[in-house]
Amino acid sequence: MNDIRSPSKEKAIDDFREFTAFWKIPDRLVSQGASHERKDGEEIAPNRFYLQSVNPAGRQPPMFYTWQGIHLFTTLASSKAGASSGDDPVYDFNGKAVGAVTYEEGQNTLTLPFHFDTAIWNLRLEKYVRGEATQPAEDLGRRLYYSIKPAMPRPLRLMMRKTLKEPMAKRSFPAWPVDTSVEQLQFGLLRTLLEARPGTALPVLSFWPGGEDCCLVLTHDVETQQGVNHMDQVIEVERECGVRSSWNFVPKDYYVDPQIFERLRTDGFEIGVHGLYHNGKLFQSREMFLRQVVEINRYIHQWGAAGFRSPSLLRNLDWISESIDIDYDTSCPASEWYGAQPGGCGTVFPFMKNRLVELPITLQQDHTLLEVLDFSPEKMVEHWLATIQKIKQVHGMILLNSHPDYLVDHKRLQAYRNFLTIITQEKNCWRALPREVAKWWRVRQDSSLDYENQQWVIKGPDTSLGKVMTVNLADDHQPYPITFQPLF
Ligand SMILES: [Zn+2]
Repeated sequence: MNDIRSPSKEKAIDDFREFTAFWKIPDRLVSQGASHERKDGEEIAPNRFYLQSVNPAGRQPPMFYTWQGIHLFTTLASSKAGASSGDDPVYDFNGKAVGAVTYEEGQNTLTLPFHFDTAIWNLRLEKYVRGEATQPAEDLGRRLYYSIKPAMPRPLRLMMRKTLKEPMAKRSFPAWPVDTSVEQLQFGLLRTLLEARPGTALPVLSFWPGGEDCCLVLTHDVETQQGVNHMDQVIEVERECGVRSSWNFVPKDYYVDPQIFERLRTDGFEIGVHGLYHNGKLFQSREMFLRQVVEINRYIHQWGAAGFRSPSLLRNLDWISESIDIDYDTSCPASEWYGAQPGGCGTVFPFMKNRLVELPITLQQDHTLLEVLDFSPEKMVEHWLATIQKIKQVHGMILLNSHPDYLVDHKRLQAYRNFLTIITQEKNCWRALPREVAKWWRVRQDSSLDYENQQWVIKGPDTSLGKVMTVNLADDHQPYPITFQPLF
């Protein structure tokens, strides 16, 4: 008996905060901590679900497990005899049941053998990468490749790329081209609650303004002077298709005429900061980072930028969120196999990290598909559209990063035009600039649902944007069998 029940209410609250914050299920319907641990005076509601975790004993390192086919990277509370029948088992990577999610009918209490929030953050912060992913030797080769890429002759570049591609192809996690493990956990826990009491419907706050089904965000990084020279062609295509995007510039690598900024702003586009230099050295040392951050912050203010994207998507979200004075960051790919820093945050939703909103990149970049994997422009578009179907299954955010440096010739621009033509016909998809998404996510974060005059209403800084939705179990066999309907 080395498992200890969550000792205090405070501890229990932290275990499921990410779950309730994601769905915005009112506390009076789903609350944290076991019902039988409630103190005097606290109402034990018969219609309320209670959530608790069993604290794992000791300080074991987190490992990969699966629960309901969902990948977890966490520490598991050891189970005496594995899972018994009727339980909902958690498996280790040899397929052995090593723990279980249990539901106590009379107590309305669902117990997880792991900390839900920790499992979510282990993915978002890519904790699974350390010691699990690339070998040091390969890592060095990769870093070298990216730091010298622009100067390398093409045949040598292609050869090096091939050697980089091989070990990556063997990975099983994160899923490529997109990984939604965080959402699968969120949907998995919600579905488990709904299944525990058949017929239950729970009110939640819509993920997107107006109760839209998904969200589309277009962004660009301008890598070099050549990219600056090609911007107009990409902007022209976007204008034709009636869309706007954000443009991230590298302050110290090339000159940008202030008139370009002015025109972008006037025409409803957005400007962001893409590091200071595009040389792969921002995170080389803490000193280097802090030195560059001073200047990065200066450019952020000078340009009136709301967003930051790190060059080559090199990232340390702790450092970024602590030091860069920005509204949102968009340096984390949902899944990255072929870039300078393999890994991925496993989510297609914004999330709060300290003061900033993180907006993950959820489609593979044009550079990866065209330059690394040698896709044709047509194949790239097909690939994006297929990925979008996966993102839509969880009602997530479609966020593309493409480059005027690579969308250069007629064929590539035509492919981008075709892509925009198709996705702008998509119904119920909120098209927004990244700064608008960040703003909405803060509003949503600060909102809650309350029961007033016999109906659920939104309380928060802007109650006109969101919509109260209801979730209940679907009868069909969708990957995420939960229906999601407007309540009023
Ligand atoms: Zn870049």
